[in-house]
Amino acid sequence: MTLSHAEYQAIANKLRPNGQAFIDGKFCDASDGETFQTTNPATGQVLCSVAHCKAADVDRAVTAARRAFNAGVWSRAEPEARKEVLLKIADLVRDHTHELAVLESLDTGKTINDCMDEIGGEVPKFFQWYAELADKVFGKIAPTGPEALALITKEPAGIAGAVLPWNFPLVMAAWKIAPSLAVGCSAVIKPAEQTPLSTIFLAELMQKAGVPDGVVNIVPGFGETAGKAIGLHNDIDTVSFTGSTEVGRMFMRYSGDSNLKGVGLEMGGKSPFIVLEDALLNDDLIEHAAMSAFWNGGQNCSANMRQLIAAPLVEDFTGRIMDRVKSFKLGDPLDPDTDIGSMITKDHKDMVMNYIQSGIDDGARLLTGGGSDLPGYFIEPTVFQGVAPDMKIAREEIFGPVLGIMPFKTADEALRVASDTDYGLHATVFSQDIDRALHMARSLPCGTVSVNGFSEGDIKTPFGGYKQSGSLARDNGTEALDQYLQTKTIWIQTRAM
Ligand code: NAD
Repeated sequence: MTLSHAEYQAIANKLRPNGQAFIDGKFCDASDGETFQTTNPATGQVLCSVAHCKAADVDRAVTAARRAFNAGVWSRAEPEARKEVLLKIADLVRDHTHELAVLESLDTGKTINDCMDEIGGEVPKFFQWYAELADKVFGKIAPTGPEALALITKEPAGIAGAVLPWNFPLVMAAWKIAPSLAVGCSAVIKPAEQTPLSTIFLAELMQKAGVPDGVVNIVPGFGETAGKAIGLHNDIDTVSFTGSTEVGRMFMRYSGDSNLKGVGLEMGGKSPFIVLEDALLNDDLIEHAAMSAFWNGGQNCSANMRQLIAAPLVEDFTGRIMDRVKSFKLGDPLDPDTDIGSMITKDHKDMVMNYIQSGIDDGARLLTGGGSDLPGYFIEPTVFQGVAPDMKIAREEIFGPVLGIMPFKTADEALRVASDTDYGLHATVFSQDIDRALHMARSLPCGTVSVNGFSEGDIKTPFGGYKQSGSLARDNGTEALDQYLQTKTIWIQTRAM
């Protein structure tokens, strides 16, 4: 249920965030007692001191996770028992939606409406969906002659590490925790240093739901310390990472330099939004174009920032999207009337502002946005016209509210420009001709293509990237389970009777 601004503010005033690590079923400090501070990016106010975990703490967490895994309290529990606990987590998240959503909004600068959607909707749905899968992971029997029985079985991979980004903190935690626990893994989770609080709160709920000690461990800390220690740990069997392509590469190296653990990568993007000449240019299309770019202030891996518009539609499209963009309200993320919250940090805001300057320097025309007078790290939604494919703002992931309009003459040209990128996470195509749209969808080298609407799919559909947006691993759908499962063949010699 949506509350008023005053009611959300009242919840915020009462919150007492916990910044401790969660290891072996206990909230605790980092071994060396060090802490760091997490702040509200919309105000700069310090929210809480957080345990600054390093390699020694990751090691404690992995030891606990391995002990729990080997004891079989979770890994060999009846699948129905794991299902019950995961369903209980979903219920507890629903019971605490308002507190968690306010905490998330304070820690990230995201709007309260987005936080309510994510925490009231998506997060519990994830736990519920993977709970329901826990007792449906079947193996196979291979065809053999009468003198053998060949079983192909699925087993939990062991200890799953997860290293998370700051843009959807609790959703990303759920994406990794729910499937890994459903199949029986133990987990060691590092939330992003900018946004650890909702994941730590979740630990409390997971314990209440009955997750045994040691099965889930949360080690807040920085990438160079806790993140790297997870990547290099010799007793972590698989790691699932969501973040930048630059750091994703490091996880491949960490694996090669340690125990060759499995590595699942979900990384950046530079996704196109393609409007073919025959598309119906109506309010619905404009709404999808605006939301694909400015949802979460553009801090979204699948943000459709290269908007490729058929030349005859460019003028109409530009006028209409400008009207929509100018109606977005920037401001206090806890106010339900706010559409766009704050960038995550000052450094991130500065980086986005540098991209905006580079667009201007390269000769693109700034139509609106480009900064903000509000205190905090706000940037108004920004639209550039006349963006050429070789400009920096057309090639690099900006991860902020900067949309570029790129006219094209033919569908082949649109396909060529859209595909000419190192990334391959997402694309949107609008056309009234389903055959043309399908041809585009099949031709684009991306993990997800949405047609006549911007969508990342939902929990049932795998999400991940081609090229440098991902490894072959996928989050979501039944495919996510593969990141956390081993396949074993048991070949039984039998006597033909
Ligand atoms: P980031 O790569 O800087 O950080 C992600 C995580 O990696 C954080 O927990 C961080 O502490 C850790 N990390 C940083 N340096 C590390 C190192 N040297 N060793 C080990 N761990 C390290 O990314 P970010 O800034 O948090 O997130 C933004 C990026 O994430 C964008 O590129 C975005 O596109 C991507 N992203 C992708 C998806 C997806 O599903 N494909 C979803 C959300 C975000």
